[in-house]
Amino acid sequence: MTFRGGGPLNTGNVSGGGGGRGKLAIGGGAGLIIVIVAALFGLDPNDLGLGSDGSSSTSSSQDQSAIDEHINSCTIEQANTDTVCRIVATTNSLDAVWSDIMPGYEPPKTIIFEGSVDTACGPATSDVGPFYCPGDQTAYFDPAFFDVLSGRLGGGDGPLAQEYVVAHEYGHHVEYLTGALQQGQRMGSAGPTSGSVRIELQADCLAGVWASQADKGPDAMLEPLTQQQINDVIKTAKAIGDDAIGGAASNPEGWTHGSSDQRVHWFNVGYTTGDPNSCNTFEAASL
Ligand SMILES: [Zn+2]
Repeated sequence: MTFRGGGPLNTGNVSGGGGGRGKLAIGGGAGLIIVIVAALFGLDPNDLGLGSDGSSSTSSSQDQSAIDEHINSCTIEQANTDTVCRIVATTNSLDAVWSDIMPGYEPPKTIIFEGSVDTACGPATSDVGPFYCPGDQTAYFDPAFFDVLSGRLGGGDGPLAQEYVVAHEYGHHVEYLTGALQQGQRMGSAGPTSGSVRIELQADCLAGVWASQADKGPDAMLEPLTQQQINDVIKTAKAIGDDAIGGAASNPEGWTHGSSDQRVHWFNVGYTTGDPNSCNTFEAASL
């Protein structure tokens, strides 16, 4: 259990989605979309085996309203047992923390979907994993991803591991607000010191900043974090390094998110300092 207290959650910025055109996934020939969407990792489409089959989306509005209903029924208590509610609660905690520490912070939107979804960055499927689209300032999550993360990808299966994923995407939103996302996108999309890698490592660091703050203060939404929970995040960050997935291990020129060690390092920088200024992966002498 990680969330403390009880009662309703703020669902004003979270909604259900899905039933997108889907088949035109991120990656492949859609180079532009790779540049404008910041995913959790740099997988080729279809690697996760989660996405829609591209068939017609006749049931989409039904799916969407079912997800909306689920979201609106969430309480803090349920966030400790239910993945959708955990995403919602984490967005509440993220908004509280970032509003506290970042002047001018404006919350992003969050869409929870199944299979495929249309975004301002183009149609996407679950196969790319969670992502953030700056065009609509929205973070996108398919809850089924977490089973793949803890299963086939070898990440953690604890609640904080899932919350880290949500916090990483919110990190991209913070980067959008500061302009770091736009700066990184002008600096190249692949390679060990590319803008993409700097964007992704900074998002890991900002997720660490959130984790360091989320259990502090009288209004903290999280119970005090345990070392075991932090270890679970580290296991997850390791699992999604460029040298751990996607066959890019032997070719750093193809890296988009940084190595396992780098992802763990930058999460820890944010977590141990609690200071977003420590997350400047653009000025860092080494990544
Ligand atoms: Zn990312």
